[in-house]
Amino acid sequence: MQWRQRTYCGTLSKSDADSSVLLMGWVDAIRDHGNVLFIHMRDTSGIIQVVFDPEISKSAHELSKLLKEEFVIQVKGKVRIREKGTENPYIRTGDIEVIAQELQILARSKVLPFQISEKAMVFGEEIKSSPKNIDEELRLKYRYLDLRRPSVQELLRKRYEIIKQIRDCLHQKGFVEIETPYLTKSTPEGARDYLVPSRVHKGKFYALPQSPQLFKQICMIGGVDKYFQIARCFRDEDLRPNRQPEFTQLDLEASFIDEEFIYETIEEIIVKIFKIGEIELKRPFLRMTYEDAMNRYGTDRPDLRFGMEMIDVTDVVKNTGYSIFRSIIEKGGVVKGFCIRGEAQRLSKNLLQNEYAMKIAPSFGAKGMTWMKLLNGRLQSNIVQFFSEAEQDGLKKRFDARDGDVLIMVADQSKELVNEVLGRLRLDFAKRLDLIPEDLYVPVWITDFPLFELKDGEISPKHHPFTMPEKEEFDPKNKDELLSLKARAYDIVVNGEELGGGSIRIHKLEIQKRIFEAIGIDPETAEQKFGFFLRALEYGAPPHGGIALGIDRTVAMILKTESIRDVIAFPKNRKAVCLLTGAPTEVEKEQLEELGIRIEKGAESETSDQSPKKQQITADQVRHIARLARLEIEEEELSVLSKDLGDILSYVEQLNELNVDDIPPSTGVLEIKNVWRDDQISEDPSVMDDIIEQSPEKEDRFFKVPKVIQ
Ligand code: ASP
Repeated sequence: MQWRQRTYCGTLSKSDADSSVLLMGWVDAIRDHGNVLFIHMRDTSGIIQVVFDPEISKSAHELSKLLKEEFVIQVKGKVRIREKGTENPYIRTGDIEVIAQELQILARSKVLPFQISEKAMVFGEEIKSSPKNIDEELRLKYRYLDLRRPSVQELLRKRYEIIKQIRDCLHQKGFVEIETPYLTKSTPEGARDYLVPSRVHKGKFYALPQSPQLFKQICMIGGVDKYFQIARCFRDEDLRPNRQPEFTQLDLEASFIDEEFIYETIEEIIVKIFKIGEIELKRPFLRMTYEDAMNRYGTDRPDLRFGMEMIDVTDVVKNTGYSIFRSIIEKGGVVKGFCIRGEAQRLSKNLLQNEYAMKIAPSFGAKGMTWMKLLNGRLQSNIVQFFSEAEQDGLKKRFDARDGDVLIMVADQSKELVNEVLGRLRLDFAKRLDLIPEDLYVPVWITDFPLFELKDGEISPKHHPFTMPEKEEFDPKNKDELLSLKARAYDIVVNGEELGGGSIRIHKLEIQKRIFEAIGIDPETAEQKFGFFLRALEYGAPPHGGIALGIDRTVAMILKTESIRDVIAFPKNRKAVCLLTGAPTEVEKEQLEELGIRIEKGAESETSDQSPKKQQITADQVRHIARLARLEIEEEELSVLSKDLGDILSYVEQLNELNVDDIPPSTGVLEIKNVWRDDQISEDPSVMDDIIEQSPEKEDRFFKVPKVIQ
């Protein structure tokens, strides 16, 4: 190949006029004028128009007639300025073109499963295709074709730029990039492990890391001081949108530091990388305690782009004649709400009562929802008559309500439930009323998380068990005390999305042991699972802390893509399948034998594509569903209901996953082709002109119509 002489299509400009070039790339689009043939030629840098004119080279023109989209070609030619009026504003090189003197076809392409070209060849022509119009599963199956699109390559290039910026920034700060093992031992991050069997050690397994947590801590104990890694993590979680079984984190850790070091480092990085997406962020970022976030926004991932903060009005209505509120308050419950400014017109009584109060709020777990509108100085609703003048005034004042505002209130014995429901209602109303400014980015640090939470009635770490409690003295057997402990943990949240989280770690063996005891890990299990790490803590561990930032999510936010899959070169689909390679697949019997693994009869069908795996429903999920259905259930019923619900969901899943690959479609649209209608539409040529003029895609006297619907 003459790669030394190669010029990249997208780099040419007017100043190259008259120079000779050698181009290598793909045929993006073709326009045959009969006498002259034009193509858009594309390489990684962009697109240039190439003209095949028999007057310049007969042989190149002859050969060019064989070209089809996505053929790989090499063209030798001369750059010239386009004639006035024929410039193409859709491509960067639109004011020039290359006159071909020689053409070589380097590789042919089959007919494409979908169109790749994204650029129209002529001004005014419809822009060819966009990834959004093509089925994502098809794009992932033919990912190599999808990757050829300039828009997809641009995302990957920007992702690279972001990661490079992170590396440069941390390099300057004295961090060292260190790779930690993929074949390792389980590190708990709350998900299941992907296991890798060992052939050499039959019956034994490695775990793919859920995060490099313990290795980075060991780096600190090893005196590394400042570590980072663009790390791949693997978590076998239940499928959720915008999650991938393997994902990339910026993982970092530093010694002899406190929270402020982490805030400073991460803020600097985030400001720099958001700039790549032309998003300016101001420092210092906001900070909010977990408790504050829950009380004011009902979530530890508050979206601060808009107001509608939650306010407690329990004291205002504690003696009200509205018995629902009064009885809840008498039982120790709370009444809270928020004010939607000036939306009384758009929020009709019907919508508030029949949709929100009757359906949406209950679907979030509330027993009901109360609404009031402030119109002409008076509160109005279906129950306002039960509130005294003083109470109504009190509500107006507390919510700072003005004419045209709508008040939304929820009451329940459980403050947590009220917070959660109002938090979800807040988002729901804001989305419906389009109150969220799209171009605003509001980062906030959430701090002072609880150290523990109850999971299925058991004490379990809210973050992971290596997080330092805010006070070192605690009794691992005292459940109430444990649940009241705060963690030295922090999350970075932007626009309601958690981009990352971390903590200051436990560096004293004795505290680590008590944490294990608190979460029910007995000394033998601790030894067996984390003995290597406990050993390390015995030899002088420095105080240290760190954080991990989800790269895929952060890049998707900066580049404003709909899904994280758009910024991952080879993502898995929503069912954790790699459509390009077909993974996961069954393996050869011999391979299993070598590993000493036997798949039990029946077990393989549980995980294979034909029959989906059994759905697991936890006791907590059953309790939640019962709450939604307003059912009281006994503890003994939990396991039966878990199983029943699991069976139902598995069955539903099975319906979703019916394999229809071999079933021929009964209807479908054939590939769009230029066809000339046989029948004469009109004798009048101007009618034909009109039709051609108005058709979205046309060429000479042809316009595009679907050939046939079969
Ligand atoms: N290992 C944690 C995670 O992956 C992050 C950290 O604590 O640094 O979420």
